[in-house]
Amino acid sequence: MKKRDRVLSALKGEEIDRIPCSSLAGCNGICPAGVQDEVNIFWPEAHKDADKMAKLAVASQRKTGIENVRVPFDFLIEPEVMGAEIKWGRKDLEPSVLEHPFEDEPESLEIPDDFLERGRVPVILDALEKIKDEVDDEVAISSLVLGPFSVLGYLVGTDNLMRMTIRQPDLIDELISPVTDILIEYGNAQYEAGTDVVEVGDPVAAPDLISPEMFDDIAKPPLQKISDGLSGLSLLHICGETQPIIKYMGECGYDGISIEKKVNIAQAKSEVKEGVKILGNVSSSYTLVKGTPEDVKEEVKSAIEQGVDLLEPGCGISPLAPLENVKAMVEATKEHGRK
Ligand SMILES: [Zn+2]
Repeated sequence: MKKRDRVLSALKGEEIDRIPCSSLAGCNGICPAGVQDEVNIFWPEAHKDADKMAKLAVASQRKTGIENVRVPFDFLIEPEVMGAEIKWGRKDLEPSVLEHPFEDEPESLEIPDDFLERGRVPVILDALEKIKDEVDDEVAISSLVLGPFSVLGYLVGTDNLMRMTIRQPDLIDELISPVTDILIEYGNAQYEAGTDVVEVGDPVAAPDLISPEMFDDIAKPPLQKISDGLSGLSLLHICGETQPIIKYMGECGYDGISIEKKVNIAQAKSEVKEGVKILGNVSSSYTLVKGTPEDVKEEVKSAIEQGVDLLEPGCGISPLAPLENVKAMVEATKEHGRK
């Protein structure tokens, strides 16, 4: 099977020859620093230049054997468009937000009318077109929309947002609604540009920040609205120990749920609605970065035995992951994932 067919069929529940090894979801892109050295294209320049981004993303797929190409490499596109100042990091360090532009006056938050023309949005869409031209229908392409709760968190500050969930839940509803609409528009523009799968990653909606009840009340409705509004395959990713909210995540309407190492695959499968695929859960921050290729292979084997539908890192691939570990993940999936 072609890599793209295998990945998309696995997500749709169609027949496949083996489980794919992809990295469609998670907070990290697919771009070990080792690949940057090999092709001489580096972060942070590649975060801002469509040509460099596309070349680096395609090279990362080819040099690791992962069965999809993915952009962007960071998840701060939307907060940046809406005014967040970015610290750009290094080849082995992701960008981060320097300050939250609406910390003092959340009420003044407005979505720019020309969102799709602003900041790096055109860069990402342009990179997706270049990638599609390059890989055609051989390899799956995935891309990312930051979840609405997280966009709001980066704009008003996470602590502030946590306080608002208790003191001003109505204000959150009011602010999150236009954010949700623009995220749907951005996600659909990504399909038009060539992506196959849009991941909605909402790390600020994780159970170590908000309670499962609050997730159900406040974070779930806009996530459902996004999955309803997206015109193609979509995934939901939330970091960390998401076992307490897996059931709710499964109710959000996505084709698949991406989970980290701390979540039990078999239990997650039993808690989501029939047909929702589980993606994961090799440890992105520990095993893939600090483990040996043998450790990685063990985790792959165990995830497949537990019934994972698509073998993936739990939260994408850190730039610090040695190439040999990423390759070991692909090899072990080929070895153990036969249907
Ligand atoms: Zn994550």
